[in-house]
Amino acid sequence: MKVTEYFDNANGKTLISFEVLPPLKGGSMQAIFDTLDPLMEFKPPFVDVTYHREEFIYVKKSSGYYEKTAIRKRPGTVGICASIMHRYGVDAVPHLICGGFTKEETENVLIDLNFLDINNVLALRGDARKFDGKFIPEKNGHHYALDLVKQIDDMNNGNYLDANIENGEKSNFCIGIAGYPEKHFEAPNMDRDLAFAQQKVEAGANYIVTQMFFDNKYYFEYVKRCRAMGIDVPIVPGLKPLTKKYQLNAIPRLFHLDLPDDLANAMVQATTAEARKQVGVEWCIQQSKELKAKGVPCLHYYTMGDVETIRKIAEAVY
Ligand code: FAD
Repeated sequence: MKVTEYFDNANGKTLISFEVLPPLKGGSMQAIFDTLDPLMEFKPPFVDVTYHREEFIYVKKSSGYYEKTAIRKRPGTVGICASIMHRYGVDAVPHLICGGFTKEETENVLIDLNFLDINNVLALRGDARKFDGKFIPEKNGHHYALDLVKQIDDMNNGNYLDANIENGEKSNFCIGIAGYPEKHFEAPNMDRDLAFAQQKVEAGANYIVTQMFFDNKYYFEYVKRCRAMGIDVPIVPGLKPLTKKYQLNAIPRLFHLDLPDDLANAMVQATTAEARKQVGVEWCIQQSKELKAKGVPCLHYYTMGDVETIRKIAEAVY
């Protein structure tokens, strides 16, 4: 079923969903099952699986020189999605990124997904590779998520890259996109960022999942501004608890967002790792409860492998 159909059928109830990361290359599917098994009692209708672009690493050769090599550290998104659907009978939402894909490769992945009866995708640009400094698309790949949305929408209308294909099978993808309550860091300002979001919705995107935020006021303001400019698709808040001291600096740096004073101060004042985790968990529970009380369509948790913490939060909220 499509993600948006779950929202439509929920009768105002706030659903729950989770995002998982493919294991590092060499790992097994068991890592995904170990994360999801304990979360299934909360009945998520769908689970997201991230996609990871190749990264460059430097491998020392016998000559003593280093060779720059590209490796994809977390492959397997499509297979993991099929496996999740098979094991749990829930829908899986693969993330698709522009980075590292030509349009032709994207089309072939979409065909695989369609054949696997995977009818949802989250369409993203992807970040710049380490060492690149800025996002560099593949030759004959997409520059922006907007172009990826257009390609998926084209396939939904039976239009393939090869114009010679007539009466092509129409896929039936529900298309999600990313939204940034605190602005995407490359956008000159919030108005421009929202205008690009609007273009993606006009091109066929059906719902938005937000970047994590730690102050609900950013989410509420974001939704208000979207609605004011006519973006009327469901906007799902993405949530992640702060659990470790280093995240006080790492999360703002990596995700370009602010941590509220009260949360940051409480984390600094907590004297043990356990106490800091408790602060973060409690904060996320309060955030979740407020969002749920306001009737958001779904609470989407970034598990990042920390199933025990996400379980605690889900238990308190659902
Ligand atoms: P875009 O919509 O293309 O926007 C990128 C930037 O360009 C923005 O600043 C935007 O304002 C600007 N822009 C957009 N259109 C135009 C235009 N036409 N002209 C000029 N500027 C424009 N990354 C991964 O690699 N894998 C994942 O699985 C993944 N999952 C994610 C899930 C969620 C819910 C979120 C919020 C992010 C995720 N990301 C993931 C990160 C995401 O790829 C990055 O944030 C990336 O930098 C931007 O992606 P986007 O789809 O928002 O890009």
